[in-house]
Amino acid sequence: MSSDCIFCKIVRKELPASVVREDTATLAFMDIRPMNPGHVLVVSKAHAAYLEELPPGGAGPIFEAAREIARALRRSGIRCQAVSMYLANGREAGQEVSHVHLHMIPRFADDGFGLRVTPGYGRVEGREELDASAAKIRAGLSASGGR
Ligand code: AMP
Ligand code: ZN
Repeated sequence: MSSDCIFCKIVRKELPASVVREDTATLAFMDIRPMNPGHVLVVSKAHAAYLEELPPGGAGPIFEAAREIARALRRSGIRCQAVSMYLANGREAGQEVSHVHLHMIPRFADDGFGLRVTPGYGRVEGREELDASAAKIRAGLSASGGR
C-alpha cells in the first residue's frame, strides 16, 4: 500500500470507483476517461509501480481477472467486437499512474483507436541479432533465478 497512490486509495475504498470485479488480489473498475465506452482497468490490490515489482505469482491474478472480464464485455451489451489490452509499464511506455494496471478497451471496427509504431518498424531482423537479444534477456532471467 502506498498512502498517496490514487489506485491504492480506490482499493481501500477511500476514493469512488465503479467496480466491475473484485477478488483477494485484484480490483477491476471503470476508467474515468474511457478510450471507448466500457474501458476497464484491472489493478493489483498490492501496490507495485511496475509488473516486475509484484511478487512471484502476483501477475497471474490480473490476467485471470482479464479473462473473465473480456468474456463479460462481449456479453454486456456495450459495443465490443474485440478487446485491446494494454499495460503501460513505465513512464516512457505511457504510464501515468504508478500502480500496475491493465487497460481493457472494448474495440469495434473503425473506432479510431490504435498504437503508433516506431519509424523503423517492419524490417525483419536477422537471426543473429534476434539470437543476441534473446541471449541478453535469458541472462537477465537467470540473474534473477527467473523470479
Ligand atoms: P496509464 O496512462 O496507463 O497510467 O493510465 C492511467 C489511467 O487511469 C488513465 O486511463 C486514467 O483515465 C485512469 N484514471 C486516473 N484516475 C482515475 C480514477 N480516479 N478512476 C478511474 N480511472 C482513473
Ligand atoms: Zn498504489
